[in-house]
Amino acid sequence: MITFAESQDALGTLDVSDRARRLERVSLADARGRFLAEAVAIDRDQPGFDRATMDGFAGAPYGDATRFDGCGTATAGTTFDGDLAPGQAVRIMTGAPAPAGTTVVPIELADVPEDGASVAFAEPPPAGRNIAWRGEDARDGDTLLEVGTRLAPAHLSVAAMAGATEVTVFERPTVAVVTTGDEVGKAGAAGIRDSNGPLLDGLLDALGVQVQRRHARDDEDELRGALEQAAAHADIVVTTGGVSMGERDLVPDTLGRLGFETVFHRVQVQPGKPVLVARRADGALFVGLPGNPVSVLATAHLFLFPALGHFLGGWAPPSVRIPMREGYEHRGRRHLFLPARVEDGGLVPVRWNGSGDLIAAATADGLVELPIGATFAAGEPARFLPYVGHALTERSVLLPRDDRR
Ligand code: AMP
Ligand code: MG
Repeated sequence: MITFAESQDALGTLDVSDRARRLERVSLADARGRFLAEAVAIDRDQPGFDRATMDGFAGAPYGDATRFDGCGTATAGTTFDGDLAPGQAVRIMTGAPAPAGTTVVPIELADVPEDGASVAFAEPPPAGRNIAWRGEDARDGDTLLEVGTRLAPAHLSVAAMAGATEVTVFERPTVAVVTTGDEVGKAGAAGIRDSNGPLLDGLLDALGVQVQRRHARDDEDELRGALEQAAAHADIVVTTGGVSMGERDLVPDTLGRLGFETVFHRVQVQPGKPVLVARRADGALFVGLPGNPVSVLATAHLFLFPALGHFLGGWAPPSVRIPMREGYEHRGRRHLFLPARVEDGGLVPVRWNGSGDLIAAATADGLVELPIGATFAAGEPARFLPYVGHALTERSVLLPRDDRR
């Protein structure tokens, strides 16, 4: 069994060959959620000119003068012709280029006499106010979006600002999921419902990855057939269950026959210890997740997504350090990832009944990482991995167990 750190090193150096270099051009309208394969640089200064940020008057300051001669109007989208002499001002609208050497006084602070030929301010206007200066946000040629960026709405706005109408993104990797287990989907008292399939569909869909899904019972031929079909076209084959030490855990032995070589099997983590990662010579990957639903949720973030990231420009699920609301002492012998909520005051692990208890895990916002032997004082930061596809804005309305009972 390897440590969590060793598993992450091994994942980081997987070679998926030229499968990782399938690119396509898409219009900005189709680019949301895609992963950028070529950086986006801006082709002009931003702002492109000294831009008025208020409606008012652009005046050329002149000693202590408070009264300026009016001489025209500058509207957004037009360029005011000519220069203003000291003591002259133009009526200016938000977004219009401010004539050189002017300062912008908001309309609220201006007094326009009836003849309209001049404008008076209560005080001499200070130089250079209420102007967004050319190039202060970005310079011509600056890179604004790096390879591997997942394009969220704000990034599409930046791409548009940079002058891009299309972007180059990674092709969507293909993922095939095979759930396993005689009991899964079986009627009767000993049957269980398939909750892993919808979980993986949702997690991968949230990353814009389409999934082909099958189920195989714990039968060598059936499993091999399902895995053969899955492996025929997929960049990554994912299984749930059948990967630990039980008599009917057939996944590890079947893999070798399909040409996959084990990268690692069993990692010192909780939940998710039995996880298996394998690779085929042509760069296809195999990620065998355990069967319990919370293990699937955790190992998808810890192992499947880093593997998937090789096809997406090195994307990895983000993590942040957040204070623990209360102290925590981890006495266990495995690197622990506990479902936790983000509350006012910090992270709160939810009460759960172990790795089958997806109901508790679904009331959390992500996983808090508790390394072996770690103790956290209240207020001390711990690493937190938000669940993919489960933003705080979409959090569960089901209260954590302690608050329900
Ligand atoms: P296994 O690793 O195959 O022994 O499975 C571990 C546990 O996860 C068992 O209790 C299984 O019944 C359960 N399990 C396996 N597959 C699924 C699934 N698709 N949905 C829900 N639970 C599952
Ligand atoms: Mg099983």
